[in-house]
Amino acid sequence: MAEHPREDPVISSLPSQSPELNPQLNELAWLEQLDITTYDFPYIHFLLKSAFRDWLSAASTLQAGGRALWLVGDWTAELLQAEGDPELNEWIEGINKAMRLSLESGKITTVKLFEDAAQAHEITAAAVPVRTRSNAEIFAFIGCIMQGNDQDIAFGNRILGIAERHFVTCFYRRFENTFFKDLLTLQEQAKRETFRRSFLVEVVQRLHDKIDVDAVLNEVLDSIISVYPNVRLEILMSQDHQSTNPRVKPLQLQGEMDRLCVQAFMEGKLLRNAFLSEEGTQYLEIAVPLSGKQGVYGVFHMYIPSEHFEEADIQLVGMLADTAGTAFENAKLYEQSNLLIDELRLINELTQQLSQSLQLKEVFKFATEELLHIFNAEYCCISQLDKDKDFFEMVSTNVPSLSKEIFPRDYGFCGLVYATKEPVILSDYHSYGRVYSKLMEETGSNSMIGAPLLIRGEVSGAILLSHTRPHFFSYENYKLLQVLATHIGLAIANASLHAEVRRMANRDMLTGLFARHYLDDKLLEFQRREARGSLIVVDIDKFKQVNDTYGHQIGDKILKQVAVIIQSSVRKIDLCARWGGEELAIYLPGMELEDGYRVAEAIREKVAAETTPQVTVSCGVSEWNRKDEKISVESLFYRADMALYRSKNNGRNQTQIGESDNLQSN
Ligand code: GH3
Ligand code: MG
Ligand code: MG
Repeated sequence: MAEHPREDPVISSLPSQSPELNPQLNELAWLEQLDITTYDFPYIHFLLKSAFRDWLSAASTLQAGGRALWLVGDWTAELLQAEGDPELNEWIEGINKAMRLSLESGKITTVKLFEDAAQAHEITAAAVPVRTRSNAEIFAFIGCIMQGNDQDIAFGNRILGIAERHFVTCFYRRFENTFFKDLLTLQEQAKRETFRRSFLVEVVQRLHDKIDVDAVLNEVLDSIISVYPNVRLEILMSQDHQSTNPRVKPLQLQGEMDRLCVQAFMEGKLLRNAFLSEEGTQYLEIAVPLSGKQGVYGVFHMYIPSEHFEEADIQLVGMLADTAGTAFENAKLYEQSNLLIDELRLINELTQQLSQSLQLKEVFKFATEELLHIFNAEYCCISQLDKDKDFFEMVSTNVPSLSKEIFPRDYGFCGLVYATKEPVILSDYHSYGRVYSKLMEETGSNSMIGAPLLIRGEVSGAILLSHTRPHFFSYENYKLLQVLATHIGLAIANASLHAEVRRMANRDMLTGLFARHYLDDKLLEFQRREARGSLIVVDIDKFKQVNDTYGHQIGDKILKQVAVIIQSSVRKIDLCARWGGEELAIYLPGMELEDGYRVAEAIREKVAAETTPQVTVSCGVSEWNRKDEKISVESLFYRADMALYRSKNNGRNQTQIGESDNLQSN
């Protein structure tokens, strides 16, 4: 039945209780219940004609004898086909009469068409109605035009007599053939369907075992390819997803490249497109979104020759994609929660370590090392805004040429971070081209992530990390840096505050000089480390009187003036301190008494010359050196104090030296 098209309406309109559910259904009862005339004419005609040919070839041996033209008609007594002696064709009209008569009578009917006088060449038409097996209905006629004598005609009629039953068999066989083919197809489909289902169940089971995002994608890809070896398959992912599988690629949302996939991604549904390849093969392009409950992650994109793919296969792929989407989402969530745990652990460790170091320098160094390590970055820069927010100073970096560099506050990516107060991520510096950055240029970097260091909501600095490879940093990196920058910012604020407190604790508020205890401590250190040093004690003359004359506020101002003069008269390494009320002290490391004396005198002269209202000071100088028998802070001070005392007693506004082997008082 190769010529019978599959989508024949008769097949598709088979009643639902058709024998595919019960192949043993006796005598095809469903067929008996049919009013055959309501069925598709061409199909029944086709069956009748096929059965007619079957019957003719089977009955050919019986037809030996006279000349005959055999015919088949449909249930309306309409002639369908004739085969046999072509010369009898001119009598074909007569057969209609015979069929009509036998339709009316329901019996075999013979009509004489021609009779010559000798009765030697009679021509007779005969028709026999063919009924369904249950004798319910006439559905065809077998007819015959015969030429010959009575003997031939009698023989023909006998054949007609048995033709009825024989033809029914031929017809039913044809019908059943069709039906069996259909049944086989159905069976085949059912088998395939069963396979698809068990395949789906297996894949689902395997997918649910996977907690790794890549493993999920690989499993689905492998599964589809194992069932459809002819498929060309890829997964296009919408987010950056690093996979070792070459079939996993990024989805280009812009451009015409993956048009069908982009549409499937946007609409969240399976889309297909049929087309003809250059070799003339009918292909099917299918795009199925990979989606979970929270979103669409990518698209399965496949090409397959249409002949290898049925509607049910498309459904299967759709279901697979659904399962894969859920599995992918679960794996992704698992991965994310793991990442989150790692991140929290990291933040915890980092903040713990950061909070341990109260030295700014240490914080910067530690942060630089850790950041390079955490992000696998090649370069790291931490810069700080100066107090007046005029410029950024590079305070820590592993790029030697940038160390201690100073940049305007609107320069480069620090400038961008300063202006926006937001973190930045850059995947390809050279194609970006909108910001010029010395860091990126000098290191040949292409990828960058950066974050502001915020203290009380104000940008106080910036962290930049870079790598030469484009697209190196992920969105997760960018988010993590933002979090870490907050903690580093806090650690910097802490260390700065600590340094400030320390500075304040060691300083005198009024003069800005060191406090006495600081000088004491430092002196001890110096005495341990060095060979010699001098100490000058400075006391303002008759300061009580100054206060009484001008008031305490002016007195304070004078005290400050004297402090400034002292500070400007000594070296950077010398330590100036407020020793007590209006008494100031200067320690000059490594300096001999003689030089100390000269410094004291310079101070004394400057004070007398530069203070307003004018005051004078008296000084005492003392010296220690390693050769002394008695080295102690106390004795050093004592000797300086005694010298000062002598200056006062001597008339003030002068310098005296403490008892020493070398120098005498002047
Ligand atoms: P001399 O040292 O020359 O012997 O006389 P004097 O008046 O400076 O000495 P004295 O030790 O009697 O007085 C020190 C005065 O210094 C007492 C106090 O009023 C004043 N003084 C101490 N500390 C401060 C300060 O911080 N501000 C002001 N305005 N005065 C101070
Ligand atoms: Mg005084
Ligand atoms: Mg005094």
